[in-house]
Amino acid sequence: METPDTIIVIGAGAAGLLSAWQAALGGRRVILIEKNARAGIKIRISGGGKCNVTNGGTIDAMLKRFEKPESRFLRFAFHAFPNGAVRELLRQQGVETYVREDGKVFPSSHNADDVLDALIRTAADAGVQSVFGAPVLSLIREASGSFVVTTAQERYTARSVIVATGGMSYMKTGTSGDGFRWLTALGHTVVPLRPALAPIELTPVPPPSLQGTPVRSCRLSAVSGTETIDSFDGDILYTHFGLSGPAALEISKKAFLPFEEGKRVEMAVDFLPGTPPDAVEQRLTSAAAEGPNRNLSTFIANFIPTKLAEPVLLQGELDGERKLHQFSRGERRRLASVLKRFIAGTVSGIPLDRGEVTAGGIPLNEVSPTTMESAVVPGLFICGEILDIAGPVGGYNLQAAFSTGYVAGRSAALR
Ligand SMILES: Cc1cc2nc3c(=O)[nH]c(=O)nc-3n(C[C@H](O)[C@H](O)[C@H](O)COP(=O)(O)OP(=O)(O)OC[C@H]3O[C@@H](n4cnc5c(N)ncnc54)[C@H](O)[C@@H]3O)c2cc1C
Repeated sequence: METPDTIIVIGAGAAGLLSAWQAALGGRRVILIEKNARAGIKIRISGGGKCNVTNGGTIDAMLKRFEKPESRFLRFAFHAFPNGAVRELLRQQGVETYVREDGKVFPSSHNADDVLDALIRTAADAGVQSVFGAPVLSLIREASGSFVVTTAQERYTARSVIVATGGMSYMKTGTSGDGFRWLTALGHTVVPLRPALAPIELTPVPPPSLQGTPVRSCRLSAVSGTETIDSFDGDILYTHFGLSGPAALEISKKAFLPFEEGKRVEMAVDFLPGTPPDAVEQRLTSAAAEGPNRNLSTFIANFIPTKLAEPVLLQGELDGERKLHQFSRGERRRLASVLKRFIAGTVSGIPLDRGEVTAGGIPLNEVSPTTMESAVVPGLFICGEILDIAGPVGGYNLQAAFSTGYVAGRSAALR
């Protein structure tokens, strides 16, 4: 199958769909090849099936939430196809969106399928020819400069190829890292892949009584000895393996590096992040004066979920049955200190496959930020999560995939 103006897009996720749409609008014949029987499985499961499709912040505010090299790279693409353009594209397909109080943008229907169907229609309307259920087996470049893309059924040749095969987490959705293999064979390097926005496995695992317990508005820190690696304010959730919830997911990327180096990394919970240790101790002193006959285990339920009373008291070496008036100043100080720094456990794993995104990937200095064309292989365009970009929770990762996909498709069409 060969025509000189053909562009092959590999991977029909957020980035692939957008790039195929733009390439087709640019007047090119576009073949979008996807290994799954349908497009965009990750979009369908995003945001718990509701799809947090982008963020409602300004472009500058959004870029600030990425690490510096990422935000420098994304600046052009975010301006070329910003969050407002994503919402407008959906609106034109009949999918209204709204900005939640926390800045996350969702379809009003709260149904990720509506977003996905709108993107599939957008690509189809532009004339994109989709081939589903066709895993690409190889991508090579011939001496002539043409690319050869092979599936079990077909051999395609094209002057331009867009690789949008995603990262390497949630592999059952199709992202098993094939793109990295082809691109390294073509001369690219890969920043080692790491989990991001992943749950954290702990040792010892939380006891069954704690599993399913949420801790609201705490500060979760990853600590290694005296060093605090990173902290994040938000909710956490105790699970059968360790911790999940927004704060745990956010901290996973930074916690992974020292863990991988073999350092002991502990997860510390500050139950009262807005209150300095002295003020916590002061609160305990006043409370003891106001209700001296209350026992400690019922009293600390004012600060933490009841189910955590036992492990917190154990860590502070405090007897929950004693009355508040029986506590010495030293014991109050110990309680204040454990409320500010409760060790939930030691990190025993942060699984790549369970990360909502993959950190690492194709280095940003090997790709042009204004075209998404490879600096190593002319005619090769790379977009979406396969790049070394991993944003926070909040619609940032889909926006990065949409924007880089848009730029890749438009540039490939112009080439
Ligand atoms: C559970 C979960 C929830 C998430 N929720 C959100 C959210 O609410 N908001 C947000 O912004 N982000 C969210 N994300 C992250 C976001 O979904 C991804 O960052 C984004 O979808 C990446 O888009 P992509 O197009 O680069 O890659 P993907 O969507 O992963 O698409 C890559 C495509 O390439 C295909 N492919 C791979 N190899 C081949 C091959 N050999 N041949 C053919 N096709 C191939 C895959 O099957 C896949 O369809 C979530 C992720 C997960 C896992």
